[in-house]
Amino acid sequence: MIRTAKARVPVLRAFVLLLILSWAGAAALADGETAPARDPKQPVDDAYTAKIHKYTTQPFFTSPLVDYLPASKSVPTPEAVLGDVAGAPAVLPYAEDVYKYMRLLEKNSQCVKVFSIGRTEEGREMIAVAVSSPENLKNLEENRARLAKLADPRTIKLDDLEADRIVAQSVPVYYITGTIHSPETGAPTALMELAYRLAVDESPYIREIRDGMITLITPVVEVDGRDRMVDIYRWHLSHPKDFYPPLIYWGKYVAHDNNRDAMGVTLKLTENVLNTYVGWKAQVLHDLHESVPYLYDNTAGDGPFNAWVDPILTDEWEMIGWRNVSDMTKFGMPGVFTHGVFDTWSPGYLMFIAAMHNGISRLYETFGNGGADTLERALDPQDYARTWYRQNPPLPKVLWSQRDNNNYEQTGLLTSLHYFNENKRLFLKNFYLKAKRSVTKPGAEGPAAYVLPADDPRTGSQAELLRVLERQAVEISRATAAFTVTLPVRKSAKPKKDGKDTKEKDAPPAPTTRDFPRGSYIVRMDQPYSRIADALLDYQYWSPDDPQKTPYDDTGWTLGELFGVEITRVTDPKVLDVRMERVTEIHAPAGVSGGDGTIYAINNNAEPSLATLRYKLHDASIEAAEEPFESGGKKFSRGSFLLRNVSRGQLDDAISDLGFLAIPVSAMPGVKTHPVRAARVAFVHTWLSTQAEGWWRIALDNLGVPYDYISTQTVSKTSDLNAKYDVILFPPVGFFSSPTAIINGLPSAWGNPLPWKNTPETPNLVGKNDSTEDMRPGLGWEGVSNLQSFVAKGGVLLTATDTSRFALSIGLADGVSVGNAQKLKIVGSVLGARLVDSRSPIAYGYDEKLSVYCDNGPIFSLSSISGGRGGRRLGGEMHTRPTGRGTMDDPDFTIGRPGVEVPEEPKAEIWENPLLTDEQLHNNFRVIPPAHRARVIFRYADSKELLVSGLVEGGDEIAQHPAVVDVPTGSGHVVLFSINPVYRGETRGTYSLVLNTILNFDSLNAGRRLAEK
Ligand SMILES: [Zn+2]
Repeated sequence: MIRTAKARVPVLRAFVLLLILSWAGAAALADGETAPARDPKQPVDDAYTAKIHKYTTQPFFTSPLVDYLPASKSVPTPEAVLGDVAGAPAVLPYAEDVYKYMRLLEKNSQCVKVFSIGRTEEGREMIAVAVSSPENLKNLEENRARLAKLADPRTIKLDDLEADRIVAQSVPVYYITGTIHSPETGAPTALMELAYRLAVDESPYIREIRDGMITLITPVVEVDGRDRMVDIYRWHLSHPKDFYPPLIYWGKYVAHDNNRDAMGVTLKLTENVLNTYVGWKAQVLHDLHESVPYLYDNTAGDGPFNAWVDPILTDEWEMIGWRNVSDMTKFGMPGVFTHGVFDTWSPGYLMFIAAMHNGISRLYETFGNGGADTLERALDPQDYARTWYRQNPPLPKVLWSQRDNNNYEQTGLLTSLHYFNENKRLFLKNFYLKAKRSVTKPGAEGPAAYVLPADDPRTGSQAELLRVLERQAVEISRATAAFTVTLPVRKSAKPKKDGKDTKEKDAPPAPTTRDFPRGSYIVRMDQPYSRIADALLDYQYWSPDDPQKTPYDDTGWTLGELFGVEITRVTDPKVLDVRMERVTEIHAPAGVSGGDGTIYAINNNAEPSLATLRYKLHDASIEAAEEPFESGGKKFSRGSFLLRNVSRGQLDDAISDLGFLAIPVSAMPGVKTHPVRAARVAFVHTWLSTQAEGWWRIALDNLGVPYDYISTQTVSKTSDLNAKYDVILFPPVGFFSSPTAIINGLPSAWGNPLPWKNTPETPNLVGKNDSTEDMRPGLGWEGVSNLQSFVAKGGVLLTATDTSRFALSIGLADGVSVGNAQKLKIVGSVLGARLVDSRSPIAYGYDEKLSVYCDNGPIFSLSSISGGRGGRRLGGEMHTRPTGRGTMDDPDFTIGRPGVEVPEEPKAEIWENPLLTDEQLHNNFRVIPPAHRARVIFRYADSKELLVSGLVEGGDEIAQHPAVVDVPTGSGHVVLFSINPVYRGETRGTYSLVLNTILNFDSLNAGRRLAEK
């Protein structure tokens, strides 16, 4: 296949040469567009250009835009820092070196300005580099002020003619971001060279971009991960014959999911890019990735499109995307395409910040080698097949270099920038129109507002959700008086049969109203960024019949549900006339409130920050009430805190930012209590994957819940875990999470050790995370035994999703089994769960109904017999009677004798321990004694109420099954989650299920009622 490609080369080369010659001869194309050709009068940097050619593996892997480098007397090329050209083999700069070059450009060119845009979790700097004409850079603030008016059409009273005048005077901002995904390594060098070209090249094609717009570049988005990746690559270069360690940590907390944070905005990199995008009033956010050959513009994808994006935007995706494909195809570059596998539904991607803030989101996948080695790459047949959206597919097998990748990235970006500049009036006007349509939303598609009532019992979580919206640049208001809104009439979901009226003519249901107290929060939809608020607070429905069968990411995310706070979608436009004021900082009511007393009571509403308080007040004695009680006319729920040994001032300080009130009471209430202790927590990770647990770590860190971060290897080496820990959290592993992988680790029968530690050669690997001499060993059987002994001696082990599977598969808990799904399909959805045992401390503060995040289970079933597999519901109706006489619910008969009464078999609900028959109980040493049986805290809702948001297919299989189970084991407990309670900063409403387990670790049996037999 390589041979075929080579045979075509002379023809192609001649063709390209011909094109260059004809372009050079004509300043403009027939339609008035400027030709992509260099300025023959400007000298070329011959040495640099020669290296570009040397490192480009095929002449058709480049374009007339990047196959030379213009020379400059004053501005240094990337070689000044890299020691070689951009994309050279074996050259991968640290972020610091990339910044050094960008600042060198700034120093030597009037066309470049570098801005610091914030820090990462590990304290590294993030930058944005503006490249434009000196004139534009001088007038940045004036231009920004103009763009701000387009971004917020209320400032010009939605006046289209005024918008046109502003458009005519403004230069747009095109924001490019690189290497958010650390193993996708090409972007930084491509962007260094791109900045140089944009600053130096005098060709009309580039000059137009420079003069007509501002190109803004963040060359490294995941700075912590970049430095780790460069470490690994350097290690690989100095150990060329060895396997090199996989990049187990990217950023401090998460890996690939750093590009799924644009809803919760939990990570610094998301916040910094969002602030830069919104602050600059940019029109485009274009994020660079590497996976698919050779350049896949996956902006548009295959549908379903996110329901909240403006159709103006979907048109822009197509315009820019197809033009990009066309331009690069004309250059003779194979494998450039748009559409394909992506679905564009979830707004969690970094680039989607633009889609949700009235701009244009774009994303490239180019072809990367995961480092700067030049490699022979062979593709899977589906990757080189010709399809309707990929008429000129990639080649089956090629020699591929980082320079090839840099050529594609730069060519794609330059043609995009040029096309965008030529049509900037259109795009700027669209930018204004999308903002205007966001402002006029209440009168158009609606709703008018979302309201968060002031009397929500979870004011702390409500404040956290409002802070998410604030980070999204959404305006929040607060009612200064009580108000009432009319709620829409909900139509019956079932259509009438055959279009005919049913017998009873139902009177149309009367509209209802809802009262909200003063101080309720109102998120108005007549604001420029109403779109993101609407998308986050609304419900999602992904039809099981959708032609798209493989959702790219989560299908549901309704944040009010996942935060456990109440939100009302209000379509009544009168809500906008309510007396209200803008709030810029959210303060939930907090502090000590009311009378005297040395005992303080805090109502338990499952606010995660209750755990913060426990760890903050080391010396205070805190008890949890095992029953609800009243004191001083106030009602307190089960699990409410009672504090002693703490001064009023101390407590007031401690809870001032926690979002709940402490009430002084004169005496301890007359209900049973138990101590709430600051458990010693071990947080276990594998060396297989750390991303899923990273979201748990960031949640605990933000809450101030301390833990020891240990690997499965440490567990295997620690025989007495109880001496150090009360609770072991084993959060989901994510990828490669089979029980055998957790135990065996990575293959170690061959190959070399894979060290993950800081050395002079790899100074950035560890950060504040964990280290090891060799990543390969797993938990091992020693580790399994240590976990068993930990639980047997009274420890509490908490697992979720795949680690629950692991715990059950090795017999760490008895009486719970995992079923295999037949048709079940739940792709990152919000599901309904129902409280089963409100007396369990794990349920403290929760209501009957709870919304949870679920991604395909696992499906738990209970058994009262050791080793037994619990009953399962496989969907559809269950037929219990045998074949015989009569109808389905008639008894059968036997000819020649009277019928006998069938004995009543004991029946239990699907989430309960199956009741035992006398037959089963007879001399059965397998029967699990009642005190040792699983205790279900929450179960999944009934089938009809299972779906809250997203996609559920075959939901019968998991409906009603246990979702959170506490299994007493030895003297300890294994607490199993089928849901993932801590996920992407989006599930605050279920955090307390984990935190309650931690805080009540030595009283988990409180309130337990045992079966009689
Ligand atoms: Zn990527």
